[in-house]
Amino acid sequence: MQIQAVRGFRDVLPGEVALWHKVEEIARSVLERYGFREIRIPILEKTELFSRSIGESTDIVEKEMYTFTDRSGISLTMRPEATAGILRAYIEHSLFQLEPVSKLYCIGPMFRHERPQKGRYRQFHQINAEVLGSSDPRTDAELLALLRTLFEELGLGELDFQLNSLGCPRCRPGFRSKVAEYLGSKKAHLCSDCQRRLMTNPLRVYDCKVATCKEALAGAPVILDELCQECGAHFLSVQKNLSLLGVPFSVNPFIVRGLDYYRRTTFEVVSSDLGAQNAVCGGGRYDGLIGELGGPDLPGIGFAIGEERLVSILQGRAGVPSFSLDLFLAALGEEATEKAFLYLDKARRLGLKAEMDLRGGSLKAQMRRANKLGSRRLLILGEDELSRGVATVKDMDGGTQVEIPLEELESAMAGWKEACSQRG
Ligand code: ATP
Ligand code: MG
Repeated sequence: MQIQAVRGFRDVLPGEVALWHKVEEIARSVLERYGFREIRIPILEKTELFSRSIGESTDIVEKEMYTFTDRSGISLTMRPEATAGILRAYIEHSLFQLEPVSKLYCIGPMFRHERPQKGRYRQFHQINAEVLGSSDPRTDAELLALLRTLFEELGLGELDFQLNSLGCPRCRPGFRSKVAEYLGSKKAHLCSDCQRRLMTNPLRVYDCKVATCKEALAGAPVILDELCQECGAHFLSVQKNLSLLGVPFSVNPFIVRGLDYYRRTTFEVVSSDLGAQNAVCGGGRYDGLIGELGGPDLPGIGFAIGEERLVSILQGRAGVPSFSLDLFLAALGEEATEKAFLYLDKARRLGLKAEMDLRGGSLKAQMRRANKLGSRRLLILGEDELSRGVATVKDMDGGTQVEIPLEELESAMAGWKEACSQRG
């Protein structure tokens, strides 16, 4: 019987990989311009790291984690998000002693046992960025400006930056009890999950996507009315700085995010191109979390971009790259094939993306293959060429054709490489 991939786990096939490269190259370039450095952390962590940081009564920890006991009896979890692991590494290696503010990014797979559907998988990929050590509202604005620049360079204009503040341990408890009281009166209208959330984590109801729950929230209390003076001033300053940097945003008091550790600024970036799973990025501030995980009492803020969703928006619009090969070599006869095989290797060592069809076949069939592969140049080495010591080179772009003496072929190939580099 044929074995298939695990449900919710998908293959990225070669035809799609170019877009992933594009997303990651632009992301790295923008992140590094904004001062971030890459950190690579393990996929497996101790389960406790996630239950302590994300929170016991969140969807992720309650029902979405891939958790198992390993052969030495330790409970391990495949990371559902990156912030916890990055903070664990930051504390474990005392990175805070090296610099007052650390800006770290990480790109890689995350695992959540959710119901698979379009835009929602059990293994998905995130681009993650964290700023550790600064509580200044300019840091929040800088992070959102980075996202604006990234989406701009990816050619994604029509994204909506939605912003909220979740307050702090001083002002949130008051808000939380108001919410519990309000939702208690609406209990009959809530879904069974939210009825349970009412007991464990009432704010989570704000994140529910069920229509009746959304309706029940129509007259619900709003956190922005309950912020303490410091949180209010912080939030205003974030908005002022976003305006200064020209980052468009809207305030949405219903953004609570699905993780317990958020404080103050929280945000989501949503796209109108995506249907139901429309969030491409989520993030926020988590002052206090580094201390709770055993580190110094330093503030932090970060975001996570869903790569699958970015790629899916780009798929709808990206032009297909016109040439994917620099040179295709077609040869006829054993002697010519041997020569071409040697030049194929020379071309590759000179830096050209080169290919030939080692199955041989007619010149016509080989030329069809060159077309199929999208080669910029076609080099033909037939019996006639061989007897005269030349190769015919056809420019598939302009259609022109020249003969190049074999002894000059290597320097000609070096010239093509030069031209490729200049085109970038
Ligand atoms: P959502 O509201 O879509 O469930 P979330 O609040 O759970 O998102 P975060 O944990 O903040 O999301 O992750 C940040 C981003 O990662 C999301 O905005 C989304 O683009 C992406 N993402 C989250 N879960 C998945 C998934 N199961 N499959 C694909 N992408 C995902
Ligand atoms: Mg989710």
